[in-house]
Formats: sequence, structure tokens, C-alpha cells
Amino acid sequence: MAAQTKYIFITGGVTSSLGKGIIAASLGKLLQSRGLSVTIQKFDPYLNIDPGTLNPYEHGECYVTEDGAETDLDLGHYERFLNVETSQSNNITTGRIYNNVITKERKGEFLGKTVQVIPHITDEIKSNFYKLGQDGKYDVVITEIGGCVGDIESLPFIEAVRQARWDLGPGNFLVVHLTLIPYLRAAKELKTKPTQHSVKQLLEAGIQPDILVCRTEHPLPSDVKRKLALFCNVQLDSVIEAMDAESIYDVPLLMKKEKLDERVLSKLNLKSKSKLDLNDWKDFLGRLKNPTAEVTIGLVGKYVSLPDAYKSIIESFIHASAASECKVKLVLLSSEEITKDNYKTKLKHLDGILVAPGFGERGFEGKIATVTYARENNIPFFGICLGMQVAVIEFARNVLGMDQANSTEMDPETPNPVIALMEEQKKIDQMGGTMRLGSYACDLKKGSKAALAYGKTKIQERHRHRYEFNNSYLEQIESKGMMATGKNPKTGLVEIIELKNHPWFVGVQFHPEYKSTVLKPQPLFVEFIQAALLKKNNK
Ligand code: GLN
Repeated sequence: MAAQTKYIFITGGVTSSLGKGIIAASLGKLLQSRGLSVTIQKFDPYLNIDPGTLNPYEHGECYVTEDGAETDLDLGHYERFLNVETSQSNNITTGRIYNNVITKERKGEFLGKTVQVIPHITDEIKSNFYKLGQDGKYDVVITEIGGCVGDIESLPFIEAVRQARWDLGPGNFLVVHLTLIPYLRAAKELKTKPTQHSVKQLLEAGIQPDILVCRTEHPLPSDVKRKLALFCNVQLDSVIEAMDAESIYDVPLLMKKEKLDERVLSKLNLKSKSKLDLNDWKDFLGRLKNPTAEVTIGLVGKYVSLPDAYKSIIESFIHASAASECKVKLVLLSSEEITKDNYKTKLKHLDGILVAPGFGERGFEGKIATVTYARENNIPFFGICLGMQVAVIEFARNVLGMDQANSTEMDPETPNPVIALMEEQKKIDQMGGTMRLGSYACDLKKGSKAALAYGKTKIQERHRHRYEFNNSYLEQIESKGMMATGKNPKTGLVEIIELKNHPWFVGVQFHPEYKSTVLKPQPLFVEFIQAALLKKNNK
């Protein structure tokens, strides 16, 4: 491991969902703004090899990296904040650790030794902790440990963090512990006991946190900070208040105000490489908070009960809305509740409609009805992945008259499989990691809406799907005005469709939302908002 790389571990206590990912990303942003190169990785304590097989209802969106890793949604925050790509190495689960160790055991690599949690699992965890820091590319590697201190399943990770302090040596290692300071309304008091207990649990595991970041709904009075410092064994200036913020993008500035970055730098004997510069970030926030217009956009999908299932799409709208200085009122609509009889009333207040990615049949017909409405009424339409496939199926059914056109995902016996499996996909019998994943090139047709949005004709976007546009229907479909305006240059697979006689109707087989960041809003989202605004103004 390169000596100069510094390691920051972020643990969490008291409860889950405190936003470790946002704190990690905000700290990363602040260090990056001081000229340091930073990456963030997440270690998740569950047994799935990766989150690709997890239900979005339970776990939120599966985020996909350039190299095609299916990862935790926190990696999306890391990329959106830092504007730096992540990879498979940035998200490791207990399942992957065990899989690696067991594979080595089967190969006989442990030379007859008894294979145990300590040292074999912890060694494997540590070698993964250090992987990204090995070639000296990063000044700082931030590692977020998923779950809560005290969970049985995170014990090996916590033990590996304890050992890491000795591997790395003082000054190269730091633990930031994120906790909650609940407010008891009846007593009008902020309570420190849960934090004391969670720090005690860390201490029992041999880890002394260096910095406490305390989530709270009310400012922490100085006596509360003092109490926390005293009982949790941390310096008073290392008790950091993290008040609930209006937007996650405010958190870096809040952490700056609390001097989190300064504490980290001094504890790691690290110097800024440049003067702190957050001008672009502040500029983004300024535009986000002072819109000059507003549009209402419907996001139609089946996982709307858990908005985290559409995290990257929702964040992409935020980035694009700042770029357009146009507030986006995003209305999440369940496709299961949209029918042929009610779609006109359900959708009539919208200036634009996005049909979301998804899997399986549930809510599918609601999505078809939604597309019909957008197509027939000239409502700006954006279809992503399944959303694009639905647009093609709707067109085949209602314009080409193929009543039973479908994707073979929904109806394997359809007489008109306009969306179908590719040959390579047919042979696959495992679920995990077997879709078309990660970044692929796409050539855009000159003059298309897509080419106009991107301002170029060669792009790369990330994929996560099994089914594809069936090219044997391309001629027929194009002859009626749905054009393939983006194609994979190698395979000829259709990646984008657009309607000729429609103000803005774009369906993409890839997931543009994965590449939208604060500093680089995704061009299709920006153009979609513009089209919705035009529609609204012309009403
Ligand atoms: N279920 C579709 C497929 O596998 C679409 C996937 C998606 O929307 N991500 O092709």
C-alpha cells in the first residue's frame, strides 16, 4: 500500500438510515475541493454477492458503474458529489468476501490450514480496504461500513477496521462515527445516551472513534457537545453537529461550517493541495434554489412506494433543474393504478411524462396507457430502459396494428416480439450479474433530438437489462415514424428511439440517470425539462 494514502472509515450507530453515504460524499467533496484526490468505497454486510439481486422495494435502486458492477445506491451519491467514476472495487459485500475466500480454499491456496473468520475473512476484507489506495492514485480513501455497529453481521468488518489502524499506523487512519441525537419533545431534551452506548459498542470492539458526527433535528448546545466529548472520549472540537438539511446538496456546506474537513486534515497530518474552492457547488445550489420557472413531471413506475428505487432519476432531475433554473415538481405515479379508463384524468395535469425502468409484468399495461396518452397528446415523453421498450410496444400495437405485440419478458408467446432476448442471453440460467451491464458506445443520428441534446454524435451510456429492440421490426416501425436515432456501432442494437411528429418523444435503452452529476447534468434530462416547459407555456 502506498504510504501517502490516508484511510478514513465511516461507521454508523444508534439506527440505520442516518445518511452515512451523504456524510461520506460530503466529506469527500470538501477534501476534493482542497485539491486532494479522493475515492469512496462501501462495504455492505449482507450475503448477496452484489445488490443486483435485491428487490428495489426493500433496498432501493441498484446503481450501475461504468465497468458494469451492480452496486449499492450510495455509490450514486459518491459519483454525483465527486464527479469521479467508481467501479466494482468500490462496493464489496460480505457475500463477495466469503465467495473469494471459499474459492481460494477450494483451490487449495490455504495449504491445509483451517480457514476461519479471523484471520482469513478479515484479511480478505482488509486487502479489499486497501485495493483502491495501492497505486498512489488517491490521497484519501473513504470507506463507508454499511449497517450499524453492534449488528452481528458487521462484526468481521468492524474487526478488520480495528486491525487496519495497526496496519496503517497513526496519522494514516481515522474513524468517523455517525450517530443520532434524538430529541424528546415531552422533555424538550436532546438525548446523548444512545450515542454513548453505540460508542461503547465500538470501544468494546477495540475501536476509538476520532470524530463523532451527530445527526440532530435541533442545534446541539455546548453542554450536550461537552457531554458527548467526555463520555465518548473524543475531543470537544471533534463533536460535529449534522442538522437535518433542506437538500442533501447542502450537507457539504454544513459540514464545512462545522469544520469537519479541518478536523480530518489535522488528525491525518494532511495539507490542502489548493485553496478550498466550492464556487461551482455554491453556484449550483444558487440556481437550484432560485428557479425562474416550474414544470410538473410525472414519473410512472411500479416501485413508487419507495422513492429510493428511482434515486438516480430523482437526483438527475435535481441536477437538470438547476441547469435549467426550472423547478421540477416530480409526481410519482404508480403504473398499477393507471388504466385505460382513467389515464386521461390521472395524467392531464402533467407537462412531461417519464416512464421508468423496471422488471416484470405488474403495472405494465398502465405504462402502455401512459405512453398512448403522451404520444397522442404531444406531451413530452422520456422512456428509460423498460420505458423505452414500452414505447416501442405501444407503437407496434396502436400504430402498426399488432394488437398482441409485446416483449418476450411479459409474454413469451407473443406473435410480435418487438422486444426480445438476444441470442447470448437465452443461454444464461443464473440471475446475478448476467444482464447487459455497464458502459456501451452509441452513435447518434445527426439532427435527432438526442444528438441535439448531447451536442455530439458519439456517446457512452450505462446499461442494465436483458431484453432488446428486435431489429427484424425496425423497417416497419421506422416506416410509420418511430425512428432509431441511436445505435450501438458494433452490434447495431437500437439504443434510442424517437417519434418524428412529436415535440419531444425519446426512449433510451440505457440508463442516462447513472451518469448525471451535480457538475455535469445529464443532457437528455435538461432537454426534457426544456420541452416540458415549452409545452406548459404553449398550453
Ligand atoms: N426488464 C427489462 C429488461 O430486462 C428492462 C430493464 C430495465 O428497465 N432496467 O430488458
